[in-house]
Amino acid sequence: MNTPAAMLHPELLDPNDPHVIVRDGQRLDHAEAASKSLRARPEPQPRGAKVHGNRPIDQAEAAARFIDAPEHEKIHDERLWDLRQKRDREMHGIAEWEELRALASAIKEHTLTHLDQYLEQFEANARSNGIHVHWARDAAEHNQIVHGILTDHGAKSLIKSKSMLTEECGFRPYMASVGIEVIETDLGERIQQLDNEDPSHVVVPAVHKLRTDVAEVFAKTIGTDPANSDVHYLAEAQREATRPLILAADAGMTGCNFAVAETGSFVVCTNEGNADLSANVPKLHIASIGIEKIIPRLEHLAVFVRLLSRSALGSPVTQYTSHFRGPREGGEMHIVLVDNGRSERLGMAEFWTSLKCIRCGACMNTCPVYRRSGGLSYGATYSGPIGLIIDPTFNQRKYSNLPFASTLNGSCSNVCPVKINIHEQIYAWRRVLVERHETPFAKRVEMKAAGELLSRPAAYRTAIATADIALAHLPRWVIYNGLNAWGRNREAPHPPPQTFHAWHQANRGEKK
Ligand code: SF4
Repeated sequence: MNTPAAMLHPELLDPNDPHVIVRDGQRLDHAEAASKSLRARPEPQPRGAKVHGNRPIDQAEAAARFIDAPEHEKIHDERLWDLRQKRDREMHGIAEWEELRALASAIKEHTLTHLDQYLEQFEANARSNGIHVHWARDAAEHNQIVHGILTDHGAKSLIKSKSMLTEECGFRPYMASVGIEVIETDLGERIQQLDNEDPSHVVVPAVHKLRTDVAEVFAKTIGTDPANSDVHYLAEAQREATRPLILAADAGMTGCNFAVAETGSFVVCTNEGNADLSANVPKLHIASIGIEKIIPRLEHLAVFVRLLSRSALGSPVTQYTSHFRGPREGGEMHIVLVDNGRSERLGMAEFWTSLKCIRCGACMNTCPVYRRSGGLSYGATYSGPIGLIIDPTFNQRKYSNLPFASTLNGSCSNVCPVKINIHEQIYAWRRVLVERHETPFAKRVEMKAAGELLSRPAAYRTAIATADIALAHLPRWVIYNGLNAWGRNREAPHPPPQTFHAWHQANRGEKK
């Protein structure tokens, strides 16, 4: 008979598992392996980007601070690369993986190009299931609608499961301003709420934290022992602290992964069962749904459910795939369908396919920039490659630096389960932002000068020859000084004795 450990983590017991992490001669499970402290004194957690109103976010500055915290950077990188490797193993286990991706992409593109019809069908079916349906043009309207529903029911406390849409709407700060207590029920999201931080990843919101960071947050907020960072102790303490709040809450809120037009039902995928608690413990259930979450038919759900968890966490399925079709007996269910810029994005010829995103986070897990800079360095609701193409649709000036935080290696597009051409859209955003003068003045001047030089071959060759001589003879401080940010962590290559052009002229120039 299997031991409980074997039933829960069979892969950990595989003696040939090449991905196992061993420390001090002991095999560690994922949570421990990913957060085992490397120092006697915990390294302080680096904080995210500095946000000043509408001013452009300096992602590079925040990323530099993250990199300056080596323990956080190493573990963040390891955790996310581990998810990427698990995703690859799952993908290789499904022969028709590429067909599934193509099908998912086609279903999403069809739905988005007939969105008005499917939204109306969904609304009609949801109403006939006994659900109240509301429409919100933007974040402010969403928050006011939910506030109105809660006021009508005299609700003063709300439990909710993780939802990026509500983050996008600034929902928690709004609720705090009107005196309604919101309690996050997803463990990672609750950690972030207690630490007064945004989620740093769409699936694993506190992935940038060490367990010593979590111990510090819990010690300050729920009174745990600050010296005890055992993951089981911390999880149990949070369960004990949160469960009474859940049982006493006046209303519950969920997001939505997929809304099915033909049935008027919707699905929420979680690994902790917290959406079921949020939806079923209080009598009032409110679901916030972005209008791009619609899929036409129930049979399409299987395509997305097979792709979602495998792409996100490298697991065959989420622990809970919860279907909601109407209010429970004696209860009430409301849906708020939210636009908040989606219709406008749908009209953007180069960027509309970003609406296919199912928020799996695979593009973040594979991105070398994201893995080494942490999600909070982007200073936006959505970080990583998907954030680079969505965030500027909300505010081009504020997020004008983000599309430059990419190597354009294309790995994000390769792993995306709905085949979004992410790296091409990142590149397209760079062009759009330069054309609209949203990039920094200094960068514009530099690019203009480079453009002039590169368009004049003779001037270019002279400049290169001069630069080579200068690099070989100038004192080091002239090149590596405070003004040269590039040179702070890099050495310029030694100039070759001859340029390629000169070599070509000398060796091949005469040959036909
Ligand atoms: S863009 Fe693709 S890979 Fe990235 S979160 Fe969305 S669905 Fe996942």
